[in-house]
Amino acid sequence: MIETKVMLSDIGGYPEEKEEAKKLIAILKNFSEYAKQGAYVPKGLILAGEPGVGKTLFAKAIANESGVPFFEFDDSSDSDAKRTKAMKDVFAKAKAQAPAIIFIDELDELAPSDVFVSDISQKTLKILLSEIDGLHNSDGILVIATTNARASLPEALTRSGRMDKKITFELPDLSSREAIFKIYLDKSPLSQGINPKALASKTNGFSGADIKTLINNAIMAGVAHKQARLTSDDIEEGIPEIRFKDIKKNRSSGISESTLYHEIGHALVAYRLKGVIGDISCERYGSVGGSVSFNEEPTSLPADNLPAKERLKDVVVALGGLAGESVFLHDNFCDSGSDLLEARTTLALLMASGYFGFDYMPGRVRAMQTRSMSMDPNCSAARSEKIEAKETELLTSSLKQAETILEGDKVLALKLYDHLKNQGKLSKNEVETLVQEKAA
Ligand code: ATP
Repeated sequence: MIETKVMLSDIGGYPEEKEEAKKLIAILKNFSEYAKQGAYVPKGLILAGEPGVGKTLFAKAIANESGVPFFEFDDSSDSDAKRTKAMKDVFAKAKAQAPAIIFIDELDELAPSDVFVSDISQKTLKILLSEIDGLHNSDGILVIATTNARASLPEALTRSGRMDKKITFELPDLSSREAIFKIYLDKSPLSQGINPKALASKTNGFSGADIKTLINNAIMAGVAHKQARLTSDDIEEGIPEIRFKDIKKNRSSGISESTLYHEIGHALVAYRLKGVIGDISCERYGSVGGSVSFNEEPTSLPADNLPAKERLKDVVVALGGLAGESVFLHDNFCDSGSDLLEARTTLALLMASGYFGFDYMPGRVRAMQTRSMSMDPNCSAARSEKIEAKETELLTSSLKQAETILEGDKVLALKLYDHLKNQGKLSKNEVETLVQEKAA
């Protein structure tokens, strides 16, 4: 059994995932009542996601907050017999102290759906399945397993009545990164008072574990140099080192032409239309191919009353990447950076706050923010059609506007291209210098 003191409040961000966790905690706290009333109590939960996004932390917080013991399956043995025995043992121990949680880290290692599975993992998987099938509603055992985002698990394991609940963790978005920064900045007297939002905006693609390491590295250096306080710059300095670890892994793939023109498109359209310049990176990090960081959150609800034309600039900038590919690579482009989704989300937010003749549409906005393209189910067909027609009209004109800007800015675009191709990235200052050289 493992002692766990982790609380959900120790986990930064991930509000929707926490809501799911809270439901399970409520069930575990009072599982006998659920079972008595004939409710189906879940036996298994899969936490899927990239490494370092806090899946283990979530499992421990669920155990701690529901006050149940936490047993981890020890996967270290390479002997078939020992592994299957370890699986049976962990179930026996947990049942003896039920209600309890059994934790299996990296379930995909144990249960690959690949046809070339080893006998060892197949046998351990068989034991796991029979143990899960042998659990009764009133036993109060919840099996929580983590798995890599890309791994697919065998259908036998995930079908109804077995490990049939799943929470998927994406890399943290801007507001989750801000919350994670806040947690770790607050932990040390050296890093008090540093603005987490600015750091969050510069760490697109970082996992929670990356953020923790970034701050820890800065604190270690601060202590070594006997600094009284760390500054935001001290922490920012460490960003490339953490990115670099992953970049090295991905370097073999090189920077694609579409990534180069995509990021140049965003950067130039933002500069010409809004006068803002950002850091441009074409280096792959995790699942993010490239980025332009302007230190601003593009998809928040507008707080002011700017005219629609001003507001629409964010949509044009969001489509800048797509326009970059279309202008410089001609027909040879695809929406590699999900620009359309970003642009449609921004549009939905604008329409929801009364722009373009539409009023509040919370369901539509929620659908966009959860990366689902579907319409609000409460919206009538006629109204959905009207919204979609307006969206198409605005998206088409915005894309055209972005393309026109880039058509007129080819000299600067090609200059940025040369530098980015060699360096992989350009800081805001470097972009500013190139823009001024061009103007001179
Ligand atoms: P893996 O798949 O590699 O096991 P994981 O998703 O289980 O990764 P954890 O082990 O939970 O990730 O997290 C790794 C480290 O990063 C932990 O030390 C944890 O404290 C920290 N961490 C990750 N995400 C968060 C978060 N959202 N809030 C606070 N800390 C986090």
